[in-house]
Amino acid sequence: MSERPQPLKAINRLFEGKEPWQIVTMTASSVLAIVWAHSLYNAKDSVTTRMRREFFRWLRQVPLVRRKIEEKMTDIKQGFKKDVVKRLAGVNIRRELPENGLTAEQIREEVMDHLHLGAYDWKSGNVSGAIYHLNDEIVKVACEAYSQTAYTNPLHADVFPGINKMESEVVRMAVNLFHGDAQCCGTITTGGTESIIMACKAFRDLAYSKGISNPQIVVPTTVHCAFDKAAQYLGLSVKSVRVDPDTLEVDVDAVRRAVGRRTCLIVGSAPNFPYGTMDNIAALSDIAIEYDVPLHVDACLGGFLAAFMTQAGHQVPVFDFRLPGVASISADTHKYGYAPKGTSVILYRKPEYRHHQYTVTTEWPGGVYGSPTVNGSRAGGLIAACWATMMFVGRDRYVRMTDEIVRTARYVEDELRKIDGIFVFGKPATSVIAFGSKKFDIFQMADLLHKKGWSLNALQFPSGVHICITHAHTQAGVAERFVSDVSAAAAHCGRHAGEPVHGKMAIYGVAQEIPDRSLVSDITKHFIDSMYYLPEPGDENL
Ligand SMILES: *Cc1c(COP(=O)(O)O)cnc(C)c1O
Repeated sequence: MSERPQPLKAINRLFEGKEPWQIVTMTASSVLAIVWAHSLYNAKDSVTTRMRREFFRWLRQVPLVRRKIEEKMTDIKQGFKKDVVKRLAGVNIRRELPENGLTAEQIREEVMDHLHLGAYDWKSGNVSGAIYHLNDEIVKVACEAYSQTAYTNPLHADVFPGINKMESEVVRMAVNLFHGDAQCCGTITTGGTESIIMACKAFRDLAYSKGISNPQIVVPTTVHCAFDKAAQYLGLSVKSVRVDPDTLEVDVDAVRRAVGRRTCLIVGSAPNFPYGTMDNIAALSDIAIEYDVPLHVDACLGGFLAAFMTQAGHQVPVFDFRLPGVASISADTHKYGYAPKGTSVILYRKPEYRHHQYTVTTEWPGGVYGSPTVNGSRAGGLIAACWATMMFVGRDRYVRMTDEIVRTARYVEDELRKIDGIFVFGKPATSVIAFGSKKFDIFQMADLLHKKGWSLNALQFPSGVHICITHAHTQAGVAERFVSDVSAAAAHCGRHAGEPVHGKMAIYGVAQEIPDRSLVSDITKHFIDSMYYLPEPGDENL
């Protein structure tokens, strides 16, 4: 008999003296074990995450626990409803289509009534982000363009070729701002989230085309949650990578370790939303080249500032197509592009990537149907308004507005660094300044600022608050008022450190402490429900 190779000998030894049925059983169970292990490895969530979830699912089935949770949830839902009732006090609640239409004048009045309902004075610059400029001329030009084109639909290229042209021009102008070459291309989307979903879709399908059946995106923990949303929609798994606790920039070595066979996309933010810090895009680009995986730069927030910062005399690291690993960039025209809400751009280095963004259905009885983005019919009016805004503002004015915003942001940053009891997170790259405290509960401070009329963003893991400086904050006295309110609040909190925290902002502190994250998720869903709640008669007594 010929000599058998080593592994086969080992297998023969393993089965020596076994009955045939035992051999079959052992073979079958080892195959099942391998399949099981493979499914664990390929799962969307880690084993510990799933075990934790199972544990809480089990805990919530214990009758006493279940009853307690249900009681608490009822309270919470009532609270949300009460807030809505309070916010909508004094306006007509309409449940039926009016039998006879209202007059244009009546409509105008009712719209104004609705516009003035909110709790914050956003025109005086009290809100973080949200309102990116307050210039009436820009508003007028954009809205005029919209009113002329509101009923157009670029889906019908033969009917509205002009809208297609405007979209192409917005894309081309953006490509040039981000130093792309003639190959670079892209589309307009309805916002940053859609741009991000589109990038994830494109690179998922690119991975599919290379035979990767279970693609994964590698993202910093600080990346915008739209990537998680994209992953939920597209069936991708997410590998979150830690950020350095001091710089709040992604740990580049950890990204390198996280990249594997399944990786379809690496993401870096320029800058991220929570802390306003910019990941080391140059280092991520090197990794992207080394491992031949695409890198997406999320410049939704900062893109249209960062593109003008150098010319405005402010330093900003290179983050765009000049870096060879950058495969795509998302940038929101409806943020610092100053266009009305509803547009963003997604840009790709190569037409091949954009092809993977498209969907085409060839067998539909309604005809062969291809479309570039999520929507079928698209709002030509929003594209025209975006185009009009960019053409009206022009390069010189973008540079000036950028300078005003960044100078205000630097002023706020410098002044906050001088205030006792708080610290600024990392190095704010563009316009977001996040701060926290080691001396007192930062949410106590946020609550005081909230009472002074400031709407700030609360941050968790680690706790903090941020202000996103927009052109609304460059109005005379606004930044000074903010700094002096923070200073007074810090002094107060310093004197009352350790006291229990009250108010709306305290919720963020509490929410971080809830170990069963599915409860936080349920509460959030009830909050979303409340956005769709219409007060009923008798609700005054809630
Ligand atoms: C705003 C933002 C997004 C998402 O954009 P939307 O327009 O809100 O959908 C993505 N990334 C960052 C960093 C953002 O600030």
